Amino acid sequence: MTAIAEGLTLEETAVAELSAGLRGDLVGRDDPDYDEARKIWNGSIDRRPGLIARCAGVADVISAVKFARTFGLPTAVRSGGHSFPGLSIANDAFVIDLGLMKGVRVDPHARTARVQAGVLLGELDKETQAFGLAAPAGIVTHTGVAGLTLGGGIGWIQRKHGLSIDKLRAVDVVTADGEFVKASADEHPELFWGMRGAGSNFGIVTEFEFELVPVGPTIVAGPIFWTMEDSPEVLRFWREWSADAPDELMSIVIHRMAPPLPFVPKELHGQPVVSVIPCWIGDLDEGEKFIKPMREFGDATADVCTRKPYLMHQSMFDPSFVPHRWYYFRGFDAPELSDEMIDVTADYASRIKSPLTSFPIWQMGGAISRRSDDDSAFGGRSAGITYNIGCCTENAEGFEEERQWARDFWSALQDWQTSAYVNFMSGDEEGEGRIRAAYGPEKFDRLQALKRKWDPDNFFRLNQNIPPD
Ligand SMILES: Cc1cc2nc3c(=O)[nH]c(=O)nc-3n(C[C@H](O)[C@H](O)[C@H](O)COP(=O)(O)OP(=O)(O)OC[C@H]3O[C@@H](n4cnc5c(N)ncnc54)[C@H](O)[C@@H]3O)c2cc1C
Repeated sequence: MTAIAEGLTLEETAVAELSAGLRGDLVGRDDPDYDEARKIWNGSIDRRPGLIARCAGVADVISAVKFARTFGLPTAVRSGGHSFPGLSIANDAFVIDLGLMKGVRVDPHARTARVQAGVLLGELDKETQAFGLAAPAGIVTHTGVAGLTLGGGIGWIQRKHGLSIDKLRAVDVVTADGEFVKASADEHPELFWGMRGAGSNFGIVTEFEFELVPVGPTIVAGPIFWTMEDSPEVLRFWREWSADAPDELMSIVIHRMAPPLPFVPKELHGQPVVSVIPCWIGDLDEGEKFIKPMREFGDATADVCTRKPYLMHQSMFDPSFVPHRWYYFRGFDAPELSDEMIDVTADYASRIKSPLTSFPIWQMGGAISRRSDDDSAFGGRSAGITYNIGCCTENAEGFEEERQWARDFWSALQDWQTSAYVNFMSGDEEGEGRIRAAYGPEKFDRLQALKRKWDPDNFFRLNQNIPPD
């Protein structure tokens, strides 16, 4: 017998049969690479699943789903393993891992890409940028395309081209019954609606089809730094400057201790700073002209906003979000940045203890806000800004204290919060009420109806869950 969980054992023959039928492999607790296979991005999450099915293709995913259903196994689905609260791994669960599914096929003439679920953002960018194209995605290369897209997908080109889901044309899905279906505007349109924003609830996406847009290859981007003391003035100026920005501009504000990276001047290393990071994807001269007032504001201590390849900018944050460090994140959307929010933000930023903590404030709007709210399940189209309050330590040392700081910071801003981006939420701690708020009551009810149709038993429940009732 193979022990999956306390009180739950499977016959060796059933496990051996599943293993023999997979093109990928099955990793159990006694396998030498078990510890590697169960690791996820967030090092503070240390969970021990019972079995991990590393799927090499759609057939493996179907077999894995049918196996889990036959034996009633609690099941987690994993692609890039970057869920902040670790929703893709669980103690004593069966894990369906799509990380081996790395196919990307770009059609440069049709400007589309077919992307398998295990592809990471940097892998997708590399293939699309070979043709001067891109799909809207996120800002760290090792994040999974799958989880990011199914929750919405925000990133540097969003104000011009929208969310990742806004360029999604179709998905291949393995359902809770182990059936294979396609969802698009023409096939199962209601499922396609739900997949775009609440996607982890209705099935396992094995492949995505994106429409691509021309980007770069050269853009104008990079951080401008001020001392942390200047935070209130910098935030006020950023608010005015970014308010009427063309869609070609997206920007993020970061508060942190300046990291010891080659592009950060040595004298700033370890110093508390606020930085504005513009990213301009239009005409380069125009971009430099637009960014000028921001870089000339106050006494910037360093300015490395420059012409550079889009691919280089896409990996700029990689050293700030190194895998297996200890992380905690919460998020929320607000229509705008008020003076009171600025005061709270500057106050909490000045109390960051860990040299690894950094929290982004995202400029939203543009193309995202011009799509009808009904177009997809995503709930944050009217957000003017999105906060991603988080903390990081190298390991357990100092983590509790830093996490409490993040929780308190988030709570101190509660009065201004409207919606929330599900991919930036913590796990159970926030609860169903918060998920309902993220989508709004009408969409939540519509999502529940969809859940009753496609997953009435809530087989897919290790996610930002929409319960069937
Ligand atoms: C370093 C870092 C940077 C980030 N940057 C951004 C950013 O720039 N923009 C942004 O929008 N978000 C960003 N995020 C948040 C990110 O979108 C989510 O963490 C997302 O869930 C990651 O997807 P994944 O496939 O890596 O995650 P996983 O942990 O593998 O999965 C996350 C969730 O999706 C479900 N899931 C995974 N694969 C599938 C599938 N194939 N079919 C159905 N359900 C599936 C899982 O069950 C789980 O509930 C970032 C996260 C990290 C850690």
